[in-house]
Amino acid sequence: MSKKEANGELQSRQCRACDRKYDYPVVRSRATRFYCETCADLPEAIRTTIERMNKRIRELERQQKKG
Ligand SMILES: [Zn+2]
Repeated sequence: MSKKEANGELQSRQCRACDRKYDYPVVRSRATRFYCETCADLPEAIRTTIERMNKRIRELERQQKKG
């Protein structure tokens, strides 16, 4: 069983709020495990709203692909 989970290893993550791809963890970056640097800086209420809208957009895109 080989699970790649080295602590502190740079990962390519996708922001839950804006869908942007970012590296994590980066020294001196405010990015978190779930949000890119920009979104991590937003007030929580705004970020939650953006995240909700992003989810809806992704759902709509999925539905559109189905036809
Ligand atoms: Zn973001």
